[in-house]
Amino acid sequence: MKIGMAGTTAALIGGTGIADAVQQYAAAEPFSFPKPVYRTLGRTGLKITTVSFGAMLTPESEVIRVALDHGVNYVDTARKYMDGRNEEIVGRALKGIRDKVYVATKTLPTSMTKDEIIRDVETSLKTLQTDHVDVIQLHNLTDRQRAFSPQTREALLKLREQGKVRFFGVTTHKNQAEVLNALVDDPDHFFDTALVAYNFKSDKEVGEAIARAGMAKLGIIAMKTQAGGYAAEAMGGISPHQAALKWALKNGHIAAAIPGMRDMAELREDIAVMGMPFELADEGILRRYNAAVESYYCSFCGRCEAGCPLGVEISTVNRSLMYAEGYRDRELAVSTYREIPRDASASACSDCPVCVARCVNGLDIRAMMKRAETLLA
Ligand code: SF4
Ligand code: SF4
Repeated sequence: MKIGMAGTTAALIGGTGIADAVQQYAAAEPFSFPKPVYRTLGRTGLKITTVSFGAMLTPESEVIRVALDHGVNYVDTARKYMDGRNEEIVGRALKGIRDKVYVATKTLPTSMTKDEIIRDVETSLKTLQTDHVDVIQLHNLTDRQRAFSPQTREALLKLREQGKVRFFGVTTHKNQAEVLNALVDDPDHFFDTALVAYNFKSDKEVGEAIARAGMAKLGIIAMKTQAGGYAAEAMGGISPHQAALKWALKNGHIAAAIPGMRDMAELREDIAVMGMPFELADEGILRRYNAAVESYYCSFCGRCEAGCPLGVEISTVNRSLMYAEGYRDRELAVSTYREIPRDASASACSDCPVCVARCVNGLDIRAMMKRAETLLA
């Protein structure tokens, strides 16, 4: 299987006349949107579409609007994405239909205090042009600590009392099992949802933690379902991204997946999966996709990090690199890379004679750190 890192149809939709381009694209290649399929998002009771909208990479509100007009009813954004512009884009897509769509956003990953969390949500409400968000998520938990911080909980409870948020969630990429298990074991059941990285390459312990969380009625939403979204050729009418999405959704503990859909082509590719079963042929496609990406796909498990004497945050460096090479989103890649303290970024590797960190999946960590530093520093 050939994979690549070049853009797909973004150029078609980029530039001026975006709404026109979307219309022309829709007219040029007729496409039947599938009938929406819903699952319940844990104890929130919200019935959300199994393929929902990850807006992180979407530069134009018209693309999101097409999905919402065809029944997608959950859209996920974040304060951080596109330096705040992504919430504005989602806000424009919601014009006139806010009451038909559930909106999830995230506080900034750096916000820890009560005031910071409240400020984030109030800014989100302004940029989204709404009076409430349905799910507010603490962005990027790497351990249980932030979820149990009294300041965090006070802020969220106050926001809920004021009617500004409805349900509480977290997002996590690293130490996911620890985070999920902590939420399940929380006697207060404070958090209602978790957005987790989950795909056919995920560790067994992540799958087990998701099952436990699902049984405890924590609403689970899957992201990173396409293992980096590296451009790849379709086989037999099904693309590896579609097969990967189907794989994630065959897990009944996942309420929905939120693939990032940049343009109309990606929207059609992902939305088509709603209601499709995972079939034997998909397994073959995923085997080949796996072989194509395995030399550079990192699952962000973080297990290599204890072996690095300089404390490099290898999993976050690799996530930044995936945003650059897989998602082809340089802005997101650079902003994620810059969140890493300089002495824990890949720049620390220049002082290290031999890489002694070991990847459980056999990745060449030194080469990846070098590539990240060259591309993103
Ligand atoms: S080269 Fe490897 S062991 Fe050395 S600092 Fe970088 S990641 Fe750590
Ligand atoms: S480099 Fe390997 S061990 Fe380290 S986080 Fe990625 S997959 Fe896990």
